[in-house]
Amino acid sequence: MHIDSPQRHVLVTGGAGFLGSHLCERLLSQGHRVLCVDNFFTGTRRNVEHLLGNARFELMRHDVTLPLSLPTSVEAGIDRIYNLASPASPVHYQHDPVQTTKTNVLGAIHMLELARRTDARILQASTSEVYGDPQVHPQPESYWGNVNPIGVRSCYDEGKRCAETLFFDYHRQHGVDIRVARIFNAYGPRMDPKDGRVVPNFIVQALRGEPITVYGQGQQTRSFCFVDDLVDGLARFMEAEPGGPGPVNIGNPEEFTVRDLARLVIELTGSSSMLAFAPLPSDDPLQRRPDVGAARQMFGWEPRVSLEEGLRKTIDWFEGLLSSDRLRAAVPLPR
Ligand code: NAD
Ligand code: UDP
Repeated sequence: MHIDSPQRHVLVTGGAGFLGSHLCERLLSQGHRVLCVDNFFTGTRRNVEHLLGNARFELMRHDVTLPLSLPTSVEAGIDRIYNLASPASPVHYQHDPVQTTKTNVLGAIHMLELARRTDARILQASTSEVYGDPQVHPQPESYWGNVNPIGVRSCYDEGKRCAETLFFDYHRQHGVDIRVARIFNAYGPRMDPKDGRVVPNFIVQALRGEPITVYGQGQQTRSFCFVDDLVDGLARFMEAEPGGPGPVNIGNPEEFTVRDLARLVIELTGSSSMLAFAPLPSDDPLQRRPDVGAARQMFGWEPRVSLEEGLRKTIDWFEGLLSSDRLRAAVPLPR
């Protein structure tokens, strides 16, 4: 337990997912109690299996589109909520777009109501997608974004934007203590190898010696943040004193083209894979890079792990997975 951080009873929605499972791990390692709530749509029990023996960890199956009712004694103790429940990869969130909007909007309402009842501080996992295809670069939090409200990505982008609106309205109208974190592309161990995101796709393709599927010409950019840095940023933001509602960007400001990423993955895996170009998906943002000045100023955070170092760790993890798993079989990756 850190001297400056009393034991918290923390609820993490989406806690069995990629980021959520790392966050649960970190919170437990700091001595907190964690209630992980997930409907296992994109997350798995396997991601948190190693935590199940910990007496301070509890896993509960629940869909956040429905109100969450907890025993009164449990509810009363909750003093922090991280709201991460939502599919995050374009393949997953476009699979059932109506459910995606519901998860983001109804899920936010139900968790904000819980925060209001319990007086808990609540952090929303928002996204760089609120900036859409940005015309301001890099993106500061003051930028309002450039989002298509009727496109294939809108269920996620607008769902997350509406969730931000709800957070700020619960804050203004009901005095709920909120934190809104805008997360930029994160990567690391426990990403779902079949979720279609660029890092798992490229690593799995490279390890199997298959063509690397670059969409468009690969000149679009992203800024990739290793999961340990990302989770550290979320936890620091939650506990920052004096803090504030944000929004605050959390991401790595080093920007790479998708082609740069493909080259780096090929080099680090020693793969013989070639690039294979495929059409750019609709509304795919051309550039994305966070301005992280607010995070630096408010809670002294900036990412420490370089893309090369983070990719090495991620590649090691995927190598382990492929050697032990059904994924060794060459099932085509989604797009
Ligand atoms: P993920 O898909 O691995 O995790 C999401 C988790 O939410 C899964 O465990 C899933 O089962 C759960 N979930 C989905 N719908 C639910 C519902 N209706 N009820 C309960 N649980 C539900 O994704 P991730 O990358 O870990 O992302 C976590 C959060 O961070 C998401 O809210 C995402 O929008 C946000 N985010 C992530 C990134 C990133 O690069 N990873 C970037 C921006 C924002
Ligand atoms: N991308 C790609 N090949 C893939 C998967 C993704 O070129 O196999 C591109 C995608 O078009 C986008 C970028 O990589 O420009 C990041 O995609 P991802 O789905 O990881 O996240 P996004 O930032 O688009 O939500």
